[in-house]
Parts: sequence; C-alpha cells; structure tokens
Amino acid sequence: KLRGKNNYQVFTPELARKQRTEARLALDLRDALEQQQLELFLQGQFDQAGQLTGAEALLRWHHPEHGLVPPDTFIPLAEESGLIVPIGRWLVEQAGQLLASWHSNPLSQSLQLAINISSRQFSDPSFVSDLLNCLQRYRFNPNLLHLELTESLLIDNASEVADIMMRLNSQGLTFSLDDFGTGYSSLAYLKRLPLQTLKIDRSFVRDLLNNPNDALIARSIVSLAHNLGLSVIAEGVEEQAQLQALTQMGCGCFQGYYFQRPMPVAEFAARYLQHNARSTA
Ligand code: C2E
Ligand code: MG
Ligand code: MG
Ligand code: MG
Repeated sequence: KLRGKNNYQVFTPELARKQRTEARLALDLRDALEQQQLELFLQGQFDQAGQLTGAEALLRWHHPEHGLVPPDTFIPLAEESGLIVPIGRWLVEQAGQLLASWHSNPLSQSLQLAINISSRQFSDPSFVSDLLNCLQRYRFNPNLLHLELTESLLIDNASEVADIMMRLNSQGLTFSLDDFGTGYSSLAYLKRLPLQTLKIDRSFVRDLLNNPNDALIARSIVSLAHNLGLSVIAEGVEEQAQLQALTQMGCGCFQGYYFQRPMPVAEFAARYLQHNARSTA
C-alpha cells in the first residue's frame, strides 16, 4: 500500500513477512513518543570555505527490540497512520528548544536549523498555529528555522501549499525543496513560492564524477537555483572530488558524510558549540 495504488506486487512469503513487520512497527510507533524512543540527530551543513552554517535535524527511532529503525522505514508508517502529526509537533517543539539554546551562544546564534516536513504534517490544520506558537514561546530568530519540503507536496494542492508557505514566510520562516530533481516540480511554479534553497538530491551527487548525465543535472539545478535567486545545497557529499566538482559548478553549500554523519545533539554541541571547538569541517 505504501508503494501506491497502481503498483502491482507479487505476494511472496518475504513480502508477507515484511508487511507483518511493518504492521508491528506501525503499532509500536504509537508508543514511541510517549516512551521517549525518538531522538533528533543533527548533520552539519557547510559553505565553500568549510565553515559550519547550520544543521539538518534527522529523526531516529530507538526501538526496544529492533534497535535503530531508520526514518525511511518509520516516517512513511507515521504518515500512513497520521502519527506524523504528533511526531511533527514534537519535532517543532524540539527545534524551538534547540534554537533557543543556540541563541545564547555566539558560536551557534547564527546557525540555521532545517527540519523535514512531510505532506500530511504540512496539511494538518494545526501545523501553522503550532509553528507560530513555538516561535512565540521560544523567541528565536525565525529566519533560522528552515523547513524542508519535497516536491510531492506540490503535486495535488500547489496553490493551497503556496498560501501556507506565504503565511509562514511572512513571519520569517524559510523553505527549501528537498531531494530536488527527483519529483515533478513545475518550474514555473518555483518562482512563485517563497523558497530560499534548492537541495540537490544525493542520487545526483553519488555518481557525479562518473555519470555525465548526473553531472549535467546537478549543474542544471545549480544554475536554475541561481537564475531564480535561490541558494543551492548538495546533499550526500561523500568525497572531496564530489565537493570540488560541485564547487566548480557554483554550488555554495554542502552536507554529507565527507563532513560528518548525523550525530546526537549533544555530540554536535561538543564538537562545534564549545568555546574551544572548531566550526569548520
Ligand atoms: P532527507 O531529508 O533527504 O535527508 C538526507 C538523508 O541522507 C538522511 O538520511 C541522511 O542521514 C542521509 N545522508 C546524509 N549525508 C549522506 C551521505 O553523504 N551519504 C549517504 N548515503 N547518505 C547521506 P536519514 O537520516 O536516514 O533520513 C532519511 C529521510 O527520512 C530524510 O531524507 C527525510 O526525508 C526523512 N526524515 C528524517 N527525519 C525526518 C523528520 O523529522 N520528519 C520527516 N517528515 N521526515 C524525516
Ligand atoms: Mg531533508
Ligand atoms: Mg534530501
Ligand atoms: Mg532524501
């Protein structure tokens, strides 16, 4: 079902097992928030000089039996069941706390925090009020809270989405399009949205050096972003040669294992936000 309605699949014992596991996980997920099994990890984002400019928050689920369950597994389950709404609310709260705590430290007070927002969460009637409420309580600079959306959000209800984005943007919040190039954005539409950043999907970065088509796509995304007056960040940078190629294309910001893997908030703080810490990669 997660694969969409028109996707015919042969029923195999393996598939049956997978579906049972997913059903179990979906049930367990109901308790995950209350049992404090969800944790925010952070992955730094760096400019061309290797200077830390911000971080993306990536959720982790510590399952009591299965250990770490990756977000690619549990976020779709949370979307399907609607649990993404309370999980997203919790995430916004965590983000507010984090930005408030960063505010008092000169090493972190201008760092941007990006959070991922899924379609169902965005469409929830309380989404906007939760965010504005969070802003009001934590009083961080709203420019520093960055919302990552995916193109899929824009397919069905683009004008409604645009309205919500405008409302939040008028309060200072900023947006990027995540996994850019993998969806079906109407290029004409991009211009009308209050976007700040296009995020080059890591599938194009992975084979950048060997596959001329991927290199061409990455280059095109960079120039598209620049022509629209947007900044551009590449995700999934794992090697220095990829970094160099992207830099030559004019990409200004990077994220990936080459710099660091996502890490617990405390580890991130120890690495970057103490007075003897380095803020470069
Ligand atoms: P995303 O937002 O595109 O996040 C980037 C993913 O790429 C993360 O996977 C990150 O760990 C991984 N990554 C970063 N650098 C590299 C690299 O150099 N090489 C490779 N191979 N991978 C890299 P992760 O943390 O497993 O998250 C997967 C997806 O789950 C995210 O993709 C996002 O769509 C979703 N997700 C994660 N946290 C949240 C959340 O709080 N809310 C929502 N709605 N979705 C989330
Ligand atoms: Mg993201
Ligand atoms: Mg992405
Ligand atoms: Mg992705």
